[in-house]
Amino acid sequence: MGLMIRIFGFCLLFNSVQVAAIDDIAYLPADTLYKAGITTPTEALGATVGEWHVRHDQIVNYMQVLASQSDRISLVETGRTHENRPLYLLAFSSPENQKNLASIQAKHIENLGQSVDKDDPLVIWMGYSVHGDEPSGSNAALLIAYYLAAGESEIIEQLLNNNVILLDPSLNPDGLSRFAQWANMHKSKNLVSDPNHREHKQAWPSGRTNHYWFDLNRDWLLLTHPESRARINQFHQWRPHILTDFHEMGTNSTYFFQPGISSRKNPWTPLKNVELTAALGDFHAAALDKTRQLYFTDESYDDFYYGKGSTYPDAHGSIGILFEQASSRGHLQDSDHGVLSFTDTIQNQVTTSLSTFAGALANKQAFLDYQVNFANKTNDLVKDDDLAGYILNEKVDQTRFLKMLDILAAHKIQYWPLSKDVKVNGQTFDRTHSMFVPLDQPQYRLIKSLFSTRQSFEDNTFYDVSNWNLPLAFNIQYQAVDREPKLNKNLVKSPKTGNPKLLRDAYAYAFSWQDYQAPKLLQRLIANEVKVKLAGDAFFAQTAQGEVSFSAGAVVVPIALDQPENLLDIIGQQNNGLDLPIHSVTSGLTQQGIDFGSRKMVNIALPKVLLIGGRGTSQYELGEVWHYLDQHVDMPVSVTDLDQLGALSFDSYTHMIWVEGSYKGVPDKTVKKLEYWLRSGGVLIGQKSAASWFSDKKWLNADFKSNKEIKLAFETTGLTYKDQDALKAKQRIAGAVFETLLDINHPLSFGFTSTTLPMFRNSALVMRQPDKPFVTVARYAKSPLMAGYTAEELQKQIAGSAAIVSHNFGKGKVIGFATNVNFRGVWYGTSRLMSNAIFMAGFINAPD
Ligand SMILES: [Zn+2]
Repeated sequence: MGLMIRIFGFCLLFNSVQVAAIDDIAYLPADTLYKAGITTPTEALGATVGEWHVRHDQIVNYMQVLASQSDRISLVETGRTHENRPLYLLAFSSPENQKNLASIQAKHIENLGQSVDKDDPLVIWMGYSVHGDEPSGSNAALLIAYYLAAGESEIIEQLLNNNVILLDPSLNPDGLSRFAQWANMHKSKNLVSDPNHREHKQAWPSGRTNHYWFDLNRDWLLLTHPESRARINQFHQWRPHILTDFHEMGTNSTYFFQPGISSRKNPWTPLKNVELTAALGDFHAAALDKTRQLYFTDESYDDFYYGKGSTYPDAHGSIGILFEQASSRGHLQDSDHGVLSFTDTIQNQVTTSLSTFAGALANKQAFLDYQVNFANKTNDLVKDDDLAGYILNEKVDQTRFLKMLDILAAHKIQYWPLSKDVKVNGQTFDRTHSMFVPLDQPQYRLIKSLFSTRQSFEDNTFYDVSNWNLPLAFNIQYQAVDREPKLNKNLVKSPKTGNPKLLRDAYAYAFSWQDYQAPKLLQRLIANEVKVKLAGDAFFAQTAQGEVSFSAGAVVVPIALDQPENLLDIIGQQNNGLDLPIHSVTSGLTQQGIDFGSRKMVNIALPKVLLIGGRGTSQYELGEVWHYLDQHVDMPVSVTDLDQLGALSFDSYTHMIWVEGSYKGVPDKTVKKLEYWLRSGGVLIGQKSAASWFSDKKWLNADFKSNKEIKLAFETTGLTYKDQDALKAKQRIAGAVFETLLDINHPLSFGFTSTTLPMFRNSALVMRQPDKPFVTVARYAKSPLMAGYTAEELQKQIAGSAAIVSHNFGKGKVIGFATNVNFRGVWYGTSRLMSNAIFMAGFINAPD
């Protein structure tokens, strides 16, 4: 054996030439030789790595070149981003393994959680730069790809012969491209390290986020975006043992690697996960010692929220690892630790990528065993759990229900229809509109976290949300049960039923406002010049299918209006893909409720909506509104910057939407102009601090509690210096779910069927309930906390306060939300409030 290795070693030296440019080699281990005929990063870029910020298209080109030259690589395009950039995943393994990679992969998935053989491959997933303005990772990925494609050394042999390395070089291509453009366009020939230089201070929106300004490192669980969908699909096809997640943090920081604070790990993650993370940590520490870098560990950053790259794997018997490098942002920046260059930051990410490989090989058996033990322990947890699973039910809005089930399916969570109706705690779950999610399945831990209503925790400090209960976000009824109901495992899982055929000589066409996609169909119709009325009240219509009941908000297309000639074709085309049941009404006289010619049937014109963004506003919240209206309502909306408002004519806009932001500096002249627009008939919609600013301006008739007032509710006598952080953690709401009581008769509630509505909250802002009647659309319940952490002092402040206030202002309407109703694009339960604020505002008639 020794001889063979020697001979092999000799051949290896003979066949290899050190061809890489000095700069590429300088980043990589000195003892490695490189195969000739494989393009180096420097050759591909026409510049050295770190000289310029790499663009995603350059990464794509380089990965294609490597894959064509090296027999160690399989490359797949896993999906496309919103901006149509390809998402790549590369699988590195020996040429021998590449020949039957599919069967290696299949065997790994088949044997998942069963006994392991010491020769089984370790699957290591290397993921870089999910935040686009944290680019050292993606730039380092070029070098790691070259190293694995061309490198010749004992450790590379060992890595590739017996394992599979997956490389995800650029998790957020749209954000990375936005940032690379920014950093490169501001680069000087003589690098400028001044932190005030434009290169280091991005415009709004920053490159951290994706196309719709979402944080993709919160989307691993929610899967709102194609980037996450593609990645999770691959994750489940590979189920890696280790997954790395390379980030950057503040310029004056040093380097961080996990483990973080173990009390802040998710309770469903085994402690052994922290131990194995620490075992790898020893290798990172040794490597960074060698290069004399400052670093820290066991502090900061938690592993609680399963929607992050370093945490999602933890719910799957994988070890997710977060790395954070102090950011040079641009090419060179002054820091507390001297001048930090972009190349320094890339070097550290290369160093810890390599120490990940070394640590993984040294602990291979432990990682293989861990995945098996994790599955075994999950089975034990299932046995110990008194619950059998959760029954879900949604009677009216099948789209919303299906969207939630779709997320469960993407996470390989099984669910089944009931074979007969089930009654639990006085609530009937009918078999046609219910699903059962059994706990006895491999995804037990993820299910428990997705259905969690936990309110007390080992550690009350949350880096991110403390709850992500999916049925609450989707406003889906559910109930935990201790016995599995009778299931119909043969039934097709889609509860959608066939739609009525449209009658050519109908009196009118009508559809309900209750389906999640009703706003989209309405928008599409009016955008295509169909004349539409909205029902301000309920009615029973005579239709081709008999009598059909419609709730308030129903959409009506009377032939009596001046309709386009090809009306029926337009309706058919616009409903294509939505498949909402549209009824052919045969008479204007209703059996009950308002008639079709009623004054309460109101014409609706095409809304022209202006979103206020730019510096000083939250790019996340505005992005969430943009995403909702663009993707879920098909509504083209304009976004303007706050500092452009003064120069803008508001005349053509029907609605304005303002989100969390800092508005104190808006000039008086603009304020006056806004007030004039509002008084003349505009609809002004504001979330969180925007609503509070509307109240300051006396547009919104609701008072907000001051920060000072809220803080006074906390007892501080007897606290010592060390209690400071804990107090701060108590005074904030990182993200929790609250119960609100909805005035179901209010136009903003049209389409809702229940008087209670779970709402998400991630701020301590409290809007007092106004004294005036008819202006509070929703208020928080008496003991409002449903799930997640919120200090009792804050719960008391929120109890009974207003969640939505709305009233007239001159000819206009003001709508204030105390919370973000589109949180992370997954709050389907409350996002409907935003389309109601647009389409149903005309019905609001409450004097201020
Ligand atoms: Zn980051």
